[in-house]
Amino acid sequence: MKFKIEKPPDEWKEQLSVDAYRVLIEGGTDRPFEGKYCLHYEPGTYVCAACGNPLFGSYEKYDSGTGWPSFFEPHSDMSVGTRPDGGHWLPRTEVHCARCGGHLGYVFDDGPPPTGMRYCISSSALDFRKEL
Ligand code: FE
Repeated sequence: MKFKIEKPPDEWKEQLSVDAYRVLIEGGTDRPFEGKYCLHYEPGTYVCAACGNPLFGSYEKYDSGTGWPSFFEPHSDMSVGTRPDGGHWLPRTEVHCARCGGHLGYVFDDGPPPTGMRYCISSSALDFRKEL
């Protein structure tokens, strides 16, 4: 897959926090209920911590009770991409930033209306831009 912004891992390592690097570049996941945006409901936009791409709006966020920030829909068509997370006994769909390819989390089909989707995202992959 090709992305608009591509950098070698050591450049991302210099730019990102240890936690952001672990999630975005290494495909890790925050521990549940520990992420900074888990219970965060200010109006604004959650952007990619690596490239600043707007990913999810606060109006698309809901409390799924899972311990990770959960959204029923991405901010726009330019926000995220998905791909099957293959070779697992539990099939999942991986979610990544559509601009830089950074790993964000997974999407499941047990979300609320109107989409029925649950984008389950690690806080460490996100930054927040407050609505002004
Ligand atoms: Fe990004």
